This record gives sequence, structure tokens and C-alpha cells, in this order.
Amino acid sequence: MRTETNQRRPQSGRRPNSQSDSFSSGRRPNRRRFNGDRSNSNSRPSRGQGGGGGRNRKQPTFNPSQFINKNPVEVAEEVYVPKHQFTDFGLHGRLADSVKQQGIETPSPIQDQVIPLILDGKDVIGLAQTGTGKTAAFLLPLIQKTIEHKDEQTIILTPTRELALQVEAEFKKFGTNFKQWATTCVGGTNINPQIRSLKRRNHFIIGTPGRIMDLMDRGNLRTNKITNVVLDEADRMLDMGFINDIRKILDGIPADRQTLFFSATMTKEAEALVNDFMQNPVTISVSKKDVTDSIAQDVVPYEHSKKLDTLLSLLKKPELQRVIIFGAMKHSVEKLSIELSRNGIKAESIHGNKSHGQRQHSLRAFKSGNARVLVATDVAARGIHVDNVSHVINYDLPNTFEDYVHRIGRTGRGTKRGEALTFVPKKAGGDRR
Ligand code: AMP
Repeated sequence: MRTETNQRRPQSGRRPNSQSDSFSSGRRPNRRRFNGDRSNSNSRPSRGQGGGGGRNRKQPTFNPSQFINKNPVEVAEEVYVPKHQFTDFGLHGRLADSVKQQGIETPSPIQDQVIPLILDGKDVIGLAQTGTGKTAAFLLPLIQKTIEHKDEQTIILTPTRELALQVEAEFKKFGTNFKQWATTCVGGTNINPQIRSLKRRNHFIIGTPGRIMDLMDRGNLRTNKITNVVLDEADRMLDMGFINDIRKILDGIPADRQTLFFSATMTKEAEALVNDFMQNPVTISVSKKDVTDSIAQDVVPYEHSKKLDTLLSLLKKPELQRVIIFGAMKHSVEKLSIELSRNGIKAESIHGNKSHGQRQHSLRAFKSGNARVLVATDVAARGIHVDNVSHVINYDLPNTFEDYVHRIGRTGRGTKRGEALTFVPKKAGGDRR
């Protein structure tokens, strides 16, 4: 049974959005205006070469000029002078050493500002995108807290299983030196090893809201000893329809916890969550005002019957070294990746029809450079952190401009320059190039 210890908010009864994560089979979270991974539709034929959404797909209306930015601003202009060095935070010597071993020398802006606040026990709202070092910004002080007080227990909620695994990987770089243990509980994988793992002492529990909720409902995950909560990429979790799960999870955690909220943006829904569940939070913002300013963008006009050919000739350019291609639907993404492989381009795909293991395999091949191209749906690509992506190609248009920004944010990370290319049908914008 779940222990109800936090009485700050009444429970909302029903749980309509109880998904493990967005692309596990079967259940889908509600998501406003989002149709990115609409793939149950074998009946919805994809026409044209190589898949790509087909003519039946309702095209969102965009002005193609939104996809053009020929003069990206120099990212290097943003110089942040940190107020601290890692040695200033009072981290345990071996923890500071493990940071050094990762080649991390200076705190990133989010780390510089957030680490002292977390160590001070404050609730913190960190407005920061992926790639800013936000994971270490919360992990390092929480590991330090756990070194000092062995009874600390932290739960970290992430929108996708991929992000959960990335957080776990980051934790392993720092936390295992101290006999601190973590369990990752994500949907789409066998629950039994997670149940077994939860029976042992865990200092960190990392997971997607749906699976965490399932484990709480089954009585396998007790929340009454949790002292720290991290909501990672909170805006995406809300966007994916996890609001009720998050509220129920937070309701079950003792009120005298420390709550950390990381998000790229602050929406009304996020604000309500913060007001209901955080105590006098301090906000630190390092979000770039407009990520699209720093990424070179252009459109690729295509004729419907030659869409795949247009992509193939584009991929002949050597500067397209590491490319993520976004497609609209699971089956069209799979089809396109097969077409590319047939044409001698090493491609992998990532979408909701693939098992967790298959997606990890694809991601590894892409990260290691074995595959030059990763074809992905929007939802599957969320939260993925891959360095040095030279190009993002929107083979199918995104559903919303927000999705467009998320997509192209996969490139141009940190100070690296990236380029985004968006396929637009010739009649809609082909003459703009
Ligand atoms: P994030 O997804 O925001 O947590 O960023 C993760 C990436 O940033 C990882 O590759 C980290 O190794 C790297 N990273 C974290 N902190 C720093 C830092 N202070 N300086 C440089 N790279 C960092």
C-alpha cells in the first residue's frame, strides 16, 4: 500500500494517463496538439517513396520562412563566468575527483548556480535545456547529501526511458564510489527485475512516471522514506500527459522533502505544479532565449514523387556526418531507415514499435558512429543526448512549432554548430530557397 504522507493537496481520483512512457505499446498519454507518433495505423497508407507520412496525412500549416535562418548567431558569444570552481562546493574529495575524471573542469552555468542552493537544502526550479549539464547539477549535490546522511533517498522522474537510462549512466560516473545504489524503473521492460531491485536498499530511484506509479500501486515502491525529488524535463513530462501520475507520486512523498524541478520552459501547468508541491523555490534560469537563433536552418523543396531521391542526394554531401532524420509515423520511420540502408547509407531507426533493447541498440550504433543516420519519431527522440549531430533533417513536417524547436535542438548543442533542413513540398515553399 502506498503511504499517504503529504496532505498538501487532495488526491485527484482517476488516473487517465497512466502510461509507463509515451511509446510503450498500447497505451498512449494524452498530449495536447501532439500526434507525432501516430502509428497504430497500418490502415493509413504511406505513399510516396520511402514512407514519409503520405498524402493522407493532414499537413500542419507552416510558413516555410519559419524554417530558414541563414545567419545563425555565434554561440560562442554567450560567455558565462562561473562564480565557483568544483573545489568551492565542499564536495567530498572522491566526488570532486570523479568529476575531474570525466574531464569536467569548470561548473557549467546551471551547475554554478544550482549546486550551492541544493546543498543548502533549497527547493530549486532550474530552467535549463538538455546539454547544459543539468544532470550533474542535481546529481552531484544529491550524492553529496547522501554521503553526509546515509538515509537520504531520492526519486528522479524523467519523461522517457532513454533519459532515465542516461541519468543512471551519469549517476554511475559519480555515485558508485560511495556504495550508493540506484535502480531504474521504466516502462516497456520486464517489471520483475525492477521489483526485485526495489527490495534492496536504493539511494536513488530513477524512472518514468507511469512505471513508478504502477510500482507504487502494487506496493513494491514505498515512498515514505523519500527525502528528495527531482522532476527532470518536467515540461516534457507534462506535455506527454503525465500530470496526474506526477501529482499522485508527489502526493505520496513526505512533505518535508527537497524538491527540484528542471524544465526547459515554464508553462501554466508547470507553474501550478510548482505552486502545489514546492516550498519557496528559488528559480535559476539558463535557458537560451531562442535556441533556433543559433542553428543554421534551411528548407529542402521536394516533389512528392522524388522525395526519397532528394534525401539520397542530400546525404551524398560529406558534411552531413551525423544526421537525425525525423519522420511522422512509426512505420514510415522504419520504412525510411530500411530504404536508406538499401541505398548504402548506414541507418538505424528509433520509434515506438521497437522494443526497448532494439532502441538502445540503434542509439548505441548512432552514438558510436557505426550508423551515420538515425531516423526517429518525435516522441522516441525526446531527451536523447547525442553529441556532434551535424544535421537534423525534418523529412516530414513537425506537428507544432514547439516540436520543430525540440527537433532542431538535437543539433547545435553546447558550442557546436549545427544545421537543420526541413523538407517542404515544392508548391508550398520550393521557390523560397
Ligand atoms: P545534460 O544532459 O544537460 O545533463 O548534459 C550532459 C552532458 O554534459 C554530459 O555529456 C556531461 O558529461 C556534460 N557535462 C556536464 N557538466 C559539464 C561541465 N561542467 N562542463 C562540460 N561538460 C559537462
